[in-house]
Parts: sequence; C-alpha cells; structure tokens
Amino acid sequence: MATLTSSSTSAQVLAGARRVVIKAGSSLLNDVSTGQLRRHWLASLASDIVELQKNGTEFLIVSSGAVALGRRALNLAAGALALEQSQAAAAVGQPILANAWQQAFSPWGRVTAQALLTLEDTEQRRRWLNSRATLEALLAQKAVPVINENDTVATDEIRYGDNDRLAARVAQMSGADVLVLLSDIDGLWSADPNRHEGAHHIPFIAKLDDETMAKAEGPNPQAAMGSGGMVTKLLAARLATNAGCTVILASGIGEHPLQALKAGARATIFAPAASPSDARKNWIAGAIQPAGAVHIDGGAAQALKKGASLLPAGMSKCSDDFMRGDVVAIVDVDGNEIGRGLASYGAQDAKQICGLRSAQISDKLGYSARAAMVHRDDMVLNQGTP
Ligand code: GLU
Repeated sequence: MATLTSSSTSAQVLAGARRVVIKAGSSLLNDVSTGQLRRHWLASLASDIVELQKNGTEFLIVSSGAVALGRRALNLAAGALALEQSQAAAAVGQPILANAWQQAFSPWGRVTAQALLTLEDTEQRRRWLNSRATLEALLAQKAVPVINENDTVATDEIRYGDNDRLAARVAQMSGADVLVLLSDIDGLWSADPNRHEGAHHIPFIAKLDDETMAKAEGPNPQAAMGSGGMVTKLLAARLATNAGCTVILASGIGEHPLQALKAGARATIFAPAASPSDARKNWIAGAIQPAGAVHIDGGAAQALKKGASLLPAGMSKCSDDFMRGDVVAIVDVDGNEIGRGLASYGAQDAKQICGLRSAQISDKLGYSARAAMVHRDDMVLNQGTP
C-alpha cells in the first residue's frame, strides 16, 4: 500500500488492502432498544465484504454480540451480569450469532467459520502459531473466519474483556494490513461531540501518542451494550498500528458500512508505525534471549541469504532446549549467529528430522508436519551477513 498521508481516504486504504479485520461491536449487531439481532445490517456488511473480496482482499470478522443475544434469550434482568451469568449468556448467544453470520453470507455461497479465542491463544507463542495456522487454512479455503472471545470459559482475570483489543490481536496475528473498528461513533473527536459543542472530528492520526490517547475522554454513547469505549478503541488502535496495521475507526450504524466508507463517510485513519512484516521481524530480532540454536550447513546458509525458508534438510544439529514457536538463533558452520527465527518444531522433534528431506518428515514424526523448520516470514537475517 502507498504511504499514508493526512489526505488519504478510507476508500484508498480499503482498495489497497490485502487482508482486513473487521470488528463489529455489540451495539451494531443488536438493536439497542429491542436487543434483537439486526439481520439486515449483517446481510449488508456481508454483501460489502463479498464485493471487496472480488479484488482479492481477504476478510476476517471479529464479532461481538454473544452475551447480549444470550441475555435476551435467557430473559436475564437488565444491569451488570455476574461472571457465571455472562458465561451462560455467551453459551446461549454464540451459536445464535454464528448462525446469523452464516445466513448473512450464504446467499453469496460463502462459508463462514467460528473461531473462539481465549487470551492465551494470542499471548502464548505456541498457541499463537496454532491459531494463526488455523486462520490461514480457513482463508486459503476462502472461508470467512468469524471470531469472538470464548466468553463461556473466559474468567475476569484471564480475558481480553473487549473485542477491540481482541480484534487488534487478531489483526496482528493474521498479519492483516487493515483493521476496521466499526462502532457507534464516526471516529476520533477532539472531545466528546455529544457533550462539547466545539468538538471537531480528527480524520487522520499519524502517530498515536499520549496526547492523542488523552483525547479519548468519556465512553461512546451506547457503550452499555458492548464493553469498549473510546479509550479501549485507541488502545486497540495503538496495538494494531504498532504491529504495522492501518486502523480505520468508523461508524457502523447504517447499513453497508464499508460501501459508505468507500463513498467517503467520515472516519479516522490511524497510520501504521511499521509494515506488518517489519513489525513482526522487529519482534523476532528483538527477542532478548533466543530459547535455543539451530545449526545449519553451508548450502542452507546460502539459500537463506537468497530468501529461502530453512528446511530440515539444511539443519545439522540443534540445541535441546526450545519449544515450537520459540525464537531460535540460526548458526552457521563457523559457529556465528547469522539470524533468528521462530521454530516450527520443538527441539525434540527438530533433532529427529535434522538433515531429512521434507517428504520424509511425516514418516519420521508420525504426524503431518510443516515443511520448513523456520519459515522465511518468521526469520530475520543479521545485517551484513556475508
Ligand atoms: N465478547 C463479547 C460478546 O460477544 C463482547 C465484548 C465487547 O463488547 O467488546 O458478547
């Protein structure tokens, strides 16, 4: 995507996007006064997505609404819910929600997939890799992942709590280049526009600094139904922009919210701090202490420098202390660290497949395995490696 400037539009951002995460808040999915699912709205968003998919753009949806739907189905009284009540409400509401998304996409022959994540799925590297692999497999099959927090098992201590943060993590995990946070406000304002007459809209944020964060006073008007106010949106935007993602904060109240953005609807664009792959590589390169080391032969070292993944065939030995998903040092025949990367295999399995061709790995390990020991997208070579 071309570099963003203060005159960039949401239409340009969407047109240049490769992979987009759309976050839809509870107050959009459910009618605020009746609590009923807004099926027409879902259908309109689905049709916008299908339209943009025609350019090859991939979509993941982070959908709230399970607790609100379940609460209505169970006739729970208004007011704050005890933890076990919201867990129960989510258990009832989530299948209704998943079904609604399926129905919204089925007229276009699109398959949707439910993915319920818990905090550990994005905060622990091994589980992160597993979740990422599943989402990749779904996208490869042209399914639309519909993601929510697994509220039925999430506890107060171990949860995202709001889907803005979950969506930012999903954007980071899936290497999305755009995150659209659809809510009931059309972007960031200098002050709460409902309370301050002189408040003005801010169309573009080049860098989310502390001063901008401080503008997020007061929750958005209908925050009672979901849990994210403006502060959580900005925190999510910061997380995502730091991961190299452009964030669009826009109103999703009306039908066809993406079409509206394409037609110039007001929104705030937050520019990314780095490209997704740079952000990812910074994270790998910045690992304080690699968990282990993988030693490679001369041929593999040459291949890596030309941009190839590290295959087990090029591995001569490895240390015995790392797990799948850990950062490992890649060491050449002279004992020099030439780079770092994320291990696709733990040390135990890696030792067994040292020197094997990719086709032999499954037989050796007894499970169908990944071809690369370190995928090139998960690898950073040291600058100046000869
Ligand atoms: N995961 C919650 C639900 O589906 C919503 C959390 C939020 O509103 O941000 O009901």
